[in-house]
Amino acid sequence: MLERKRTVGGRFAPEPPWPIKERLLQHRQIDPVSGCWNSDLRRDRKGYPQIGISGVTHRVHRVAYKLFVADPGSLHVLHKCDNPRCFNPNHLFLGTQLDNMRDSAAKGRTRGGIRKLSEAEAHKVRMLYWNFGLNQAQIAAHYGMHQSTISHLLRGETWRRSPSK
Ligand SMILES: [Zn+2]
Repeated sequence: MLERKRTVGGRFAPEPPWPIKERLLQHRQIDPVSGCWNSDLRRDRKGYPQIGISGVTHRVHRVAYKLFVADPGSLHVLHKCDNPRCFNPNHLFLGTQLDNMRDSAAKGRTRGGIRKLSEAEAHKVRMLYWNFGLNQAQIAAHYGMHQSTISHLLRGETWRRSPSK
């Protein structure tokens, strides 16, 4: 990716001449189904779009959280929507390193072959259905799964909640 640089008054400008928020929004593609703000910026190995600020590379969703919500400090910024390209502040939440590891494990992106829904992922499907108001077909499309899978899940036939502790 080419970072544009400009000299101001003969000196080297440390920041691009337009605000970071604007740069992020210039690279936003809103998914009409999920409401995800997909960034088309170049992605890192794990699929997270990146943005360069003052010569340092940052993950877009983390920068977005800081700009639109609050400084996450030492906490991790995680996705409710399970979409690493997304930087919609409403789809982001804060978590600890442990949450992050659970989340990554739940997503199972590293495994090849057939994707299997974990309990954590099933939870996200339920959330999309009940909290985001998506219908089963939309959720199935979002996850690239059959609608019957989503339907079973929502009826609790396939995934049962673990007994409360
Ligand atoms: Zn999203």
